[in-house]
Amino acid sequence: MFDKILIANRGEIALRILRACKELGIATVAVHSTADAGAMHVRLADESVCIGPPQARDSYLNIPSLLAACEITGADAVHPGYGFLSENARFADILESHNIHFIGPKADHIRVMGDKIEAKRTAKSLGIPCVPGSDGGITEDDEALRVAADIGYPVIVKAAAGGGGRGMKVARSETDLVHALQTARTEAKAAFGDDAVYLEKYLEKPRHIEIQVLGDGRGGAVHIGERDCSLQRRHQKVWEEAPSPALNDVMREDIGRVCAEAMQKLAYRGAGTIEFLYEDGNFYFIEMNTRIQVEHPVTEMITGIDLVNEQIRIAAGSPLSFKQDDVRISGHAIECRINAEHPVTFRPSPGKITYFHPPGGLGVRVDSAAYQGYTIPPHYDSLIGKLIVHGRTRNECLMRLRRALDEFVVEGVETTLPLFRALVRNPDIQNGQYDIHWLEKFLASGGMDDPAAG
Ligand code: ADP
Repeated sequence: MFDKILIANRGEIALRILRACKELGIATVAVHSTADAGAMHVRLADESVCIGPPQARDSYLNIPSLLAACEITGADAVHPGYGFLSENARFADILESHNIHFIGPKADHIRVMGDKIEAKRTAKSLGIPCVPGSDGGITEDDEALRVAADIGYPVIVKAAAGGGGRGMKVARSETDLVHALQTARTEAKAAFGDDAVYLEKYLEKPRHIEIQVLGDGRGGAVHIGERDCSLQRRHQKVWEEAPSPALNDVMREDIGRVCAEAMQKLAYRGAGTIEFLYEDGNFYFIEMNTRIQVEHPVTEMITGIDLVNEQIRIAAGSPLSFKQDDVRISGHAIECRINAEHPVTFRPSPGKITYFHPPGGLGVRVDSAAYQGYTIPPHYDSLIGKLIVHGRTRNECLMRLRRALDEFVVEGVETTLPLFRALVRNPDIQNGQYDIHWLEKFLASGGMDDPAAG
């Protein structure tokens, strides 16, 4: 096992990793920008190193600084968390060449899954069902028009190097498509420095369902159920739950088995998430994330498996601590991503938290690095905490979530708590009847305009 892990991240995920390290008896090193000197992850770690100024590119994304921090502290492994360098194959390679373990997949697998066209090709070859579309990148408009005519409109143009929902354009006709190709290429070039795009059938009413997998890197792999992340705003997940209200045990087992077998063939190492759109009983692969995800706690709550602990054990060369048959799904869990944003306009609201009272009680988990007196810096994402609630049934979970949201008090900054208080009381949500467009429609139709809504 490792002696000392450097956590190349900040915020709630840095704390989450720190907790797993402590329970494994591993020493921890926090890194921070000058803006995060007083942050909770810095306070709780055994050691800390300042790695640069506030801008992420000069600190949390600064590979030479991180390497120096490993050198100074003698860390023998790095956990990248999510975001920042977590899916940077070059970072994984550089660490390995310095004899520092990267707590994540093999660099080649990060590389393949980081290129969406390559990822789709690989998924298809591993027997994972994919959305119909172009087999590779599209350079000529003529070719795009031919593929679109073949699969039928509407279609969606996506950036090969995409992420965070950027560089995607829907087209409902030939004229639309020519225009969409142009804007998608320009956006992709600006955002990712790569203008390669591809085409997919646009699904009108899908749910977003993803499968959690773990592989030992030697051909052993398991699936740990799904998460339903259909409630999204601007392609960003807002509310995640497990099990999905749309699946039964047979469907879960079938898609889970396909994913586990694919990971066995790949000899995948570490935690991963295979993301699908799900419509009319069919699953369509969209991408694979080769890291721990923001919404991993919902899986932990219904299985009791500590996913970060498993990531660390796998990276240290230990076998998985359980087998497929040991995975038991118990009850229901929901996660709300609480952001420091205005609940109606979603304008970021950095600043000082003057009062902070998180909820507690049976089945309630709050993953947050915020505290009373903490000043949220304007330089990073606006996530201030995740509220995760577990119940024996979905109904019990919803009632518990309602009371936990009512207990949660954050003052000094705006938060999205009122949005969640409205959602948990909404009949469609209570019935589990929502697709990936539901939230946008709810907001567009003034669902949050009534000040009493929250
Ligand atoms: P990113 O990596 O930018 O997050 P994804 O490919 O994961 O991009 O897609 C993000 C979201 O975009 C999905 O969760 C879904 O809401 C929407 N989306 C992607 N592909 C399609 C499609 N073929 N049809 C309909 N919606 C899609």
